[in-house]
Amino acid sequence: MLVDSHCHLYGEEYNRINLFEQIEKDNNLLFAVTLSSDENDAKLCKEIAEKNKKVFYAVGFHPENAESFTANSLKEIEKLAQNEKCVAIGEVGLDYHYTEDNKSLQKQILVSQIELAYKLKKPLSIHCRDAASDLYDLLLNNKDKLKYGFVIHCFSETKEWAEKFSKLNAYFGICGNFTFKNYDSSVAKFLPLDRIMVETDSPYLAPVPVRGTLNTPLNVKYTLNKLAEVLNKTPEEMEEITTKNALKFYGIKIEP
Ligand SMILES: [Zn+2]
Repeated sequence: MLVDSHCHLYGEEYNRINLFEQIEKDNNLLFAVTLSSDENDAKLCKEIAEKNKKVFYAVGFHPENAESFTANSLKEIEKLAQNEKCVAIGEVGLDYHYTEDNKSLQKQILVSQIELAYKLKKPLSIHCRDAASDLYDLLLNNKDKLKYGFVIHCFSETKEWAEKFSKLNAYFGICGNFTFKNYDSSVAKFLPLDRIMVETDSPYLAPVPVRGTLNTPLNVKYTLNKLAEVLNKTPEEMEEITTKNALKFYGIKIEP
């Protein structure tokens, strides 16, 4: 069975298509992890996971929201993490795509959440856009606090970065953009097999052949199939590998 290791399921649009019923019924999906971007949607993620057996959640503050981060945000996030279905701190990270004006603020927020993950003994789900070099330095400087693991979700960097982050014991999330024509999918060959997971990042980045539609965890199979093709595996083998990795990374004990 498959795992969607990273998605955002708190949008209104999902109630309209009865997504949670579809997830519970789907015999091919073992579980999905819904991640938050601030304390408000963290609350929604927790509620969704409490209601739906196959949904787990993560709480964290996304770098794109850095300007609205307050001392209270971190306290709220810590509070919302107190639940057996909370399996990670995320989505956290660095994003210099839209602005580089708040780099130091973004780094400060990320470090505070690395410390929180360490304190709560949870892994981290990290977003990185146009910021690989700073992220690498920051992780290296905080290596002792990464004991519970971290994933670079929607991994979209070069093979050189794949190798560097591998040395820090990173996991790698392969997302829908992996199926796009402009993505150099050969980079997957440089990722350690025991640290690859698949994800949708729903509602964004729907994979080919459903590109451009509302993405859901049920589409993770398309990315899995493409990954299998690139790595010369059967979809069944790839499924076994990525599901095993996701169970281990998130510390979830259910039978695939
Ligand atoms: Zn995301």
